[in-house]
Amino acid sequence: MYQLQSLEEALKHFFGYDTFRPGQRQIVEEALHNRDLLVIMPTGGGKSLCFQLPALLKPGLTVVVSPLISLMQDQVDALRDNGIGATFLNSSLSFSEVRSREQAILRGKIKLLYMAPERLLAEKFLPFLDTVQSQIGVSAFAIDEAHCVSAWGHDFRPEYRQMRHLRQRYPNIPMLALTATATSRVQQDIIQQLTLRQPGIHIASFNRPNLYYDVQPKQRQAYNQLLKQIRSHQGSGIVYCLSRRQVDEIAFRLQNDQISALPYHAGMSDEARSTNQNRFIRDDVQIMVATVAFGMGINKPDVRFVIHYDLPRNLESYYQESGRAGRDGELAHCTLFFSTRDIPKLDYIIDQKPDPQEQRVARQQLRQVIDYAEGTECRRTIVLRYFGERFPGNCDNCDNCCYPKPIEDWTIEAQKFLSCVARCRERFGTTHIIDVLRGSRKKKVEQYGHHLLSTYGIGKDKTADAWKMLARSLLHQGLMDETTDGYRVLKLNKRSWEVLRKQRQVQIAVTPTSKAQTLAEINPRKAEAELLFERLYRLRKQLADFQSVPPYVIFADSSLKLMARNKPKNLEEFTQISGVTDYKANQYGEQFVSEIRGFCQEQQLPVPLPSDTHIKTLQLYQQDLSVEEIAERRGFTSRTIINHLSELIEMQQPVDLNRLVAPEKKQPIIKAIQTVGEHSLRTIREHLGENYDYPEIQLVRAWWRREH
Ligand code: ADP
Ligand code: ZN
Repeated sequence: MYQLQSLEEALKHFFGYDTFRPGQRQIVEEALHNRDLLVIMPTGGGKSLCFQLPALLKPGLTVVVSPLISLMQDQVDALRDNGIGATFLNSSLSFSEVRSREQAILRGKIKLLYMAPERLLAEKFLPFLDTVQSQIGVSAFAIDEAHCVSAWGHDFRPEYRQMRHLRQRYPNIPMLALTATATSRVQQDIIQQLTLRQPGIHIASFNRPNLYYDVQPKQRQAYNQLLKQIRSHQGSGIVYCLSRRQVDEIAFRLQNDQISALPYHAGMSDEARSTNQNRFIRDDVQIMVATVAFGMGINKPDVRFVIHYDLPRNLESYYQESGRAGRDGELAHCTLFFSTRDIPKLDYIIDQKPDPQEQRVARQQLRQVIDYAEGTECRRTIVLRYFGERFPGNCDNCDNCCYPKPIEDWTIEAQKFLSCVARCRERFGTTHIIDVLRGSRKKKVEQYGHHLLSTYGIGKDKTADAWKMLARSLLHQGLMDETTDGYRVLKLNKRSWEVLRKQRQVQIAVTPTSKAQTLAEINPRKAEAELLFERLYRLRKQLADFQSVPPYVIFADSSLKLMARNKPKNLEEFTQISGVTDYKANQYGEQFVSEIRGFCQEQQLPVPLPSDTHIKTLQLYQQDLSVEEIAERRGFTSRTIINHLSELIEMQQPVDLNRLVAPEKKQPIIKAIQTVGEHSLRTIREHLGENYDYPEIQLVRAWWRREH
């Protein structure tokens, strides 16, 4: 077994990373001490490594239980691409394939075996597992997506319940349960159902620091807004919509606008769905337009943005759906398009629920989403509060922290509004109150005699939208109430009266009407790295297609970025890049390094233009003067003129080398350069001998440099 102080070495050796993510090291250590573990980490936190690294360091086989065949395949592909012995057994394999994999296991070639629970616990398989245990040993059971064991979770799978038999049959083999589920109810359930023994419990923060959260007021031309948003991003993205019809429509319109996009929803055939999903995972297509049916069980780490075109149903689903961005830890954007016009759609869906209790819960959840969307605090603080976590704010990576909305005193407007509610006898909703305030000539207003009220027309100076914003803010701040029995009538409460009696000020955050800011900033160095990144991205795609694996299996985006920034020029430098193991350097290094070299050379191509002094020398040279004559005319030494001419040659100016160097000397000088390198004139001269002088060598070297 490895010494603990060399865990970092093992991390670099097997996975190419230099440091552990928060929590990982301690989990690995405890796993190496054969402790039962419950690991709760948000998506992208790096759970896999917590059981993979111990599996590689301990003798024997680690059995990984995973619910979905597609996930197994991905993880096994990624491990094998790192030269690690991993395999899976499932129903898609032929009998002989299963046999040969079982043989490999018994020969100790495999460190990680992935299986679905029902197969693992099948009568047929357990005797084989006994054999493995007695011949090479089972080092651990790792239960991925462990929340599937709990009926309290959102993804209960009865077959997971059978796992308790593992504990009975193999009481001494440690168990690691891993999940991204946040609720403590499910966490307790996992411990019980799997009968974990005094497990080490590791709950990582649910904060995802690399995600940028923002909410944009959804414009009436929402599609154009979406298009613009997509065009401002690079890399893969998901657009979530509420309805299938909308998914189809938006995917179609994006295609028409030359964006490569495909739809995904439950109304499509299984085959069409899995084709589209695969094309997305393999980077054949940039955008997946989808209902929430998409995303469960897909494990694409390099999704760079997730846009919610419609309101999500609750904050937990928003967190999970938006959380599909940036699993690789690189910066990613989560944008929510918010318009109060969308609220009735969701209300309608809630109204369809048969159970009044369910309706109440759903309404409360919707309220929380609206609070998030309209909130002026740090978005992270709001989301994490939902998961019972305190976050101090000022994250510097959300719209509210980066572009705080101005707070204004709207006490007088609030008094106007509330007194209008009072004068309408607290029997009407927002729209009617605003109509009265703005002096509308609608029939309904006159019908109730509200055009005669003292508040009629006192709010003409503000738009209906501004009044709506105020009304929502009053509701949020608890300065006014609304009935929830389906009619949404505005009611005054104790605090409303305090406002009316001038005992309380009203502050509201004013949404700027200007268009949402974009963050794109351009600097030339960055532009160069981006160009190279694109080339490496294409190379990765080619290599991936060739092997039929998703591109991220070859290298993560973060590694490509580092390559683009550091431009490693040889294999040794290449191996220093985070995410590159020796194994991968051997497999792909050559191709990546030569792509990088090619890029660097092309970047140098735009040749500098000759300066004035160079041009004067060139003009004299073109009058057929010798080097000495030019030197004399210009009052410089011959050395300087030779320098000029060499530089002119490198700058691709019309200087004929044959006039300056005897043609038969050219080849030997080139040979010498190729043998001893171009850098030192002295070394080249020593190699060539007395018959060659420095000016000749320097001029030929200039010509050689231009040609290479
Ligand atoms: P989870 O299963 O928790 O969603 P993964 O195990 O898939 O997360 O890891 C997410 C990403 O983070 C993967 O691309 C993985 O290679 C990367 N990763 C994990 N640990 C580290 C680390 N210590 N350093 C850098 N990248 C890491
Ligand atoms: Zn913030």
